[in-house]
Amino acid sequence: MVCPGDRGYDTARAVFNGMIDRRPLAVIRPMDASDVVGCITFARRHDLPLSVRGGGHSVAGSAVRDGAIMLDLSGMKALWVDPATRTVRAGPGLTLGEFDRATQAFGLATTLGVVSTTGIAGLTLGGGLGWLNGRYGLACDNLISADVATADGQLLRASAQENEDLFWSIRGGGGNFGVVTAFEYQLHPVDLVLAGGLSYPLEVAPRVLRHYDDFVKAAPDELSTAASLGLTPAGEPTVSIAVCYCGPIDEGERVLRPLRTFQSPLDDQVQPMPYAVAQSARDEGYPSGRLHYWKSGWLREVTDGAIETLMRFVPQMPSSASGVGLQQLHGAASRVAPSATAFPHRAEQYDFLILSQWSEASDSDRNVQWTRALFEAMQPHLEESVYVNNLGDEGSGRVRAAYGENYPRLAAVKRTYDPDNVFRANQNIDPSTDIVGGEQ
Ligand SMILES: Cc1cc2nc3c(=O)[nH]c(=O)nc-3n(C[C@H](O)[C@H](O)[C@H](O)COP(=O)(O)OP(=O)(O)OC[C@H]3O[C@@H](n4cnc5c(N)ncnc54)[C@H](O)[C@@H]3O)c2cc1C
Repeated sequence: MVCPGDRGYDTARAVFNGMIDRRPLAVIRPMDASDVVGCITFARRHDLPLSVRGGGHSVAGSAVRDGAIMLDLSGMKALWVDPATRTVRAGPGLTLGEFDRATQAFGLATTLGVVSTTGIAGLTLGGGLGWLNGRYGLACDNLISADVATADGQLLRASAQENEDLFWSIRGGGGNFGVVTAFEYQLHPVDLVLAGGLSYPLEVAPRVLRHYDDFVKAAPDELSTAASLGLTPAGEPTVSIAVCYCGPIDEGERVLRPLRTFQSPLDDQVQPMPYAVAQSARDEGYPSGRLHYWKSGWLREVTDGAIETLMRFVPQMPSSASGVGLQQLHGAASRVAPSATAFPHRAEQYDFLILSQWSEASDSDRNVQWTRALFEAMQPHLEESVYVNNLGDEGSGRVRAAYGENYPRLAAVKRTYDPDNVFRANQNIDPSTDIVGGEQ
C-alpha cells in the first residue's frame, strides 16, 4: 500500500494521460484474487470510494480518483498458456506486449490493441480492437471465461455456462460489474504477418482515402487496416495507411498489391515481420505521461464531405505528435450480432479518433480547442455512437451512446451484481436506470 507522503506515491498515482493529476487516499497493489476481495470488502466496510487500474491507459483516467482507494492490479501478471487447447489464462495486470511475448513463444495470439503498453484488462472489458479483428473478432469475442470479484465480496466464474449474464456484460460493458482477477482467452496460430505502413502527401489524401475505403470494404478477413492523418516532425501534413495481413504471406502480397500500387507512396514499409514486432511498431509514438485529449465516433463511410473536413483541419493541427485515425472494425468482428455481447457496434466501419497529444501544459488550450472544432465539424459524417474505450469524461449522454441498444440490459445486470454502484469509477452504467432506458 502506498499513501500520500510515502516514497513512490506520485509514481503510483500517475496514469498514461498526463492531463490526469489525481490524489487517491491510498494505492493498494493486490497480488492475487483473495487480496482483491479483501480490498473490496475493506473499502465497502469503511465506505471508501474505489477505482481499478489495469494498464492505466484510459484517457479519462478512470483508474485513479481523488480520495479513493486505487486498486492497482499491475502486480497480477501471472500467465499460463495451454498450447494443446490453444488457450491462455492471464492476469489483469498484463500489458499487451507482455501477453503477446508469452503467447508468441508458442506461435499463438489473440486480438488485442495496437500499442503494446496498453493493459489487456480495460481493453478487453470495453471490446478490444486490433490487427487481428477481421479474422478473429475483438479481444472480448475471444474471451472464454473470467474470474470476477463482485461488490459483495464473492469470487465468481463468468462464462457461457456460469453466470452467463455477467459474462455477457463484461464483454463490452467495462469494469462496471466487478474486478476481473483472471481472463481466459482463445488463442489462434499467428506467426509472420505482412504488416507496416504506406504514406502519402496530404494533397493526394482525397484519392488515397477514397481508394482505401473501397479497397478495405472488399478485403478478406485476414486483412485489418487503419488510416491516419497527421504531421511529420517537420510539420508536413501526410496521410498514411497501416495494414496487417495474418494469412499466408504470398497471398497477402497478392491481396495488398492494388493498395500498394494505385498511387506511388512517399514510403512503403509493408513487409513480413513477426506478429509481436507488428504489435509494438507504434509504441514510440505513445510514451506515457504526455498530455492527451481525444474525441471519437464511429464512421461508416469515408465520404467526400468527411475528406473535405479533414483536409481543412489537418494542416492546422497544433501538435505533430497528434493524429486523426480511422481504425477499421472488419470481418469477424463486424459479423457478431449486436446483442450477442455487450459491445453493440457490429458493422463494417471505422473507429474515428482524433487523438491529440502534446508535451507542454501551456499548449493545452490550443490543442483542446482544435480537437473540439474538428469533432464538431465531423458531426454530420459520424454515427451518434462511440467506442467506450475512447471516451474521456464526456457526460452520461455519451456513455449511453457507447453502450447503445444494450444499455437497458446492462443496467439490469448492474442491479444484480452491483446495486450500490461500488464500481462507478468508469464509463458508468447507472443501476437505477429502468429496463426501458429511463432514470428511476
Ligand atoms: C496509446 C493507446 C492506444 C490504444 N489502442 C487501442 C487499440 O488499438 N484498440 C482498442 O480497442 N483500444 C485501444 N486503446 C484504448 C484502451 O482500450 C483503453 O484505454 C483501455 O481502458 C485501456 O485499458 P487499461 O487496462 O490500460 O486501462 P485502465 O485505465 O487501467 O483501466 C480502464 C478502466 O477499465 C476498468 N478495469 C481495468 N482493469 C479492470 C479489471 N481487472 N477489472 C475490472 N475493471 C477493470 C476500470 O474501470 C478502469 O478504470 C488505446 C489507448 C491508448 C492510451
